[in-house]
Amino acid sequence: MNTFAINPARCDRAPGCRVKKECPANAVIQLDGNYYIDLNTCRGCGLCVKACPKGAVEESSF
Ligand code: SF4
Repeated sequence: MNTFAINPARCDRAPGCRVKKECPANAVIQLDGNYYIDLNTCRGCGLCVKACPKGAVEESSF
């Protein structure tokens, strides 16, 4: 299964985060100004990788 995470070093923390808008599972949460992917909610579709203009979403396979 692949997991997805937002790299804080690349994320620009834009208020209109496209990753948050485009995630069909509403798995992107914002906490103290930082964005995270809730792995319990994520469906693993991978749409967020292309949605982020900063390339901040990273995919890992285990
Ligand atoms: S992989 Fe799909 S469900 Fe998971 S955070 Fe990305 S867009 Fe949302």
